[in-house]
Amino acid sequence: MADSTRHPMTGNEMSGSSEGGMERHTYDVVVVGAGGAGLRAAIAAHEAGARTAVVCKSLLGKAHTVMAEGGIAAAMGNRWPEDNWEVHFRDTMRGGKMLNNWRMAQLHAQEAPERVQELEDWGALFDRTDDGLISQRDFGGHKYARLAHVGDRTGLEMIRTLQQRTVQLGIDVFMECTVTDLLKEGDRIAGAIGYWRESGRFITFDAPSVILATGGIGKSFKVTSNSWEYTGDGHALAMRAGAALINMEFVQFHPTGMVWPPSVKGLLVTESVRGDGGILKNSEGKRFMFDYIPEFFKAETADTIEEADRWYDDKKNNRRPPELLPRDEVARAINSEIKAGRGSPHGGIYLDIASRRTPEFIRKRLPSMYHQFKELADVDITAEPMEIGPTCHYVMGGVEVDADTQESAVTGLYAVGECSGGMHGSNRLGGNSLGDLLVFGKRAGEAASAYTASLGDARPAVSEDDVKTAQASALAPFEVEGGENPYTIQHDLQQSMNDLVGIIRTASELEESLREIEVFKDRAKSMVVEGHRQYNPGWHLALDLRNMLIVSECIAKAALARKESRGGHTRDDFPKTDTEVWGKKNLVVTLNAAGDGVDLAEKPLPVMPDELKKYFE
Ligand SMILES: Cc1cc2nc3c(=O)[nH]c(=O)nc-3n(C[C@H](O)[C@H](O)[C@H](O)COP(=O)(O)OP(=O)(O)OC[C@H]3O[C@@H](n4cnc5c(N)ncnc54)[C@H](O)[C@@H]3O)c2cc1C
Repeated sequence: MADSTRHPMTGNEMSGSSEGGMERHTYDVVVVGAGGAGLRAAIAAHEAGARTAVVCKSLLGKAHTVMAEGGIAAAMGNRWPEDNWEVHFRDTMRGGKMLNNWRMAQLHAQEAPERVQELEDWGALFDRTDDGLISQRDFGGHKYARLAHVGDRTGLEMIRTLQQRTVQLGIDVFMECTVTDLLKEGDRIAGAIGYWRESGRFITFDAPSVILATGGIGKSFKVTSNSWEYTGDGHALAMRAGAALINMEFVQFHPTGMVWPPSVKGLLVTESVRGDGGILKNSEGKRFMFDYIPEFFKAETADTIEEADRWYDDKKNNRRPPELLPRDEVARAINSEIKAGRGSPHGGIYLDIASRRTPEFIRKRLPSMYHQFKELADVDITAEPMEIGPTCHYVMGGVEVDADTQESAVTGLYAVGECSGGMHGSNRLGGNSLGDLLVFGKRAGEAASAYTASLGDARPAVSEDDVKTAQASALAPFEVEGGENPYTIQHDLQQSMNDLVGIIRTASELEESLREIEVFKDRAKSMVVEGHRQYNPGWHLALDLRNMLIVSECIAKAALARKESRGGHTRDDFPKTDTEVWGKKNLVVTLNAAGDGVDLAEKPLPVMPDELKKYFE
């Protein structure tokens, strides 16, 4: 029975119904996720004429993007007129160790400046250069200062701006609502089903286009900079719908997370600290990064302290400090120092900006870091060094998509932002995620809207049987008697991933991890949830855990298969980068036919055209 309901925030009339107590809505495009990627996609879809909804499992404005600190990478040339998209493209490909989808890296480098400018037009207040242009700061792996920023709170400003525009345009937002399954008619997307976190009641969306923008997977690991939302939902939803994931072995361990006190272990310490002059030291006081400059970056990395320090004053003719090597290189170096017994008292190493910059400079450029350490660790970073260590931060792997449209292998299913794969290859450069969200968010929104419009009245229909099956599957943990609590399984999974699939990997540990994942999957079959559906965090976790288990298996399986070290994948038993064999292919994973495990396949890299190859000669 259709009843004309109004959206609580926008007041828009919604073609909703509440048949059998089940809420139901019809849209042209449904975006799952309200981070930078989801909001930018929703704005684009709406502006292209699609009736658009955004669904997110936390409050609007609370997505992970809000935590981004350093900035948005875009070759605007505001500090260095020499900067341009070609240099940004080259840096991105080199940072990703040439496994990136070249077309995505190209589009990103070409379009990011326009997307940043557009944010400013919509009201974002960026820091300025002395000439009044948008300020751009240095980050690892970028040849020029390129990150448009707002102090160390860039994500907050980005989300504020996109959120404001979303609300202004009257796009419907369903907050605290988790999508649990995608619905299909044949090979095409027909909609999605989820539940309200507060009431536990189900909600179905009829929509021919669904854009996944659900962020990352960090909660599969014990030590992570990621928040509770990062359980790989979009990755798993896509796989269950028949799409493939690419590059899942590449997980970025950010070199600098807090290590003390235990309650905040893993919390990010922004790369801007190093970009603004911070240096890394071991317990002997040695600036150790000079010992870890790889051949690949030798030509452009300073090998003496004097030269490294000169770079901050005269970047033109000097080679960059080794602290600003790409993240994978710095994280491995820190890991080696700690392993060699030259770590700090709480198992990290030291990051020192106090001895190099004035307290005023530090408080102005890094206000969040100043407060984070003062309030959480009682450390004054203007007077003493920070203790830091690697933390699981970002997944380069994600849904395999078409570079121009972000469409997956499933018709009508798009993926964008951290839950999509290909753009960053084996290692993401700092600042390239926020640019990615904006560039490909816009492209996905436009493509999804055009696809829905092309269908006319021939829209796929949601099957009632599929809705019932999805509901029954979500409620299954309430039916189990005497089973195990999801929290204990999650705890064991996180520990196992940290210990066996972490920053340094070996075949025997990866095999052990896959055996353990099978045990966790078995334990999860008899997972029990107590109480009722109304705000029940145990039930929410039980549903998220299904996704975390699939994603963890993808990571471990791909990591075992890739017999080399590259970017965010380091094998102790295969320490070299094997350009001849592994430099020519990607690994893709799909759900197996039985739907209870992961199949793995190799795929040749897309061939880069000659006019782009010249940048690497
Ligand atoms: C501390 C920190 C600092 C960072 N700093 C930078 C930086 O300076 N520059 C940079 O480029 N990158 C940075 N990154 C990385 C970057 O912030 C993220 O990669 C990026 O914000 C991801 O954006 P997204 O839109 O893909 O996802 P998110 O912003 O995480 O949004 C995901 C959305 O999906 C929703 N969601 C998830 N699952 C479901 C579901 N099942 N149903 C409904 N909704 C769901 C969530 O509620 C949320 O709204 C940083 C990351 C961290 C953790």
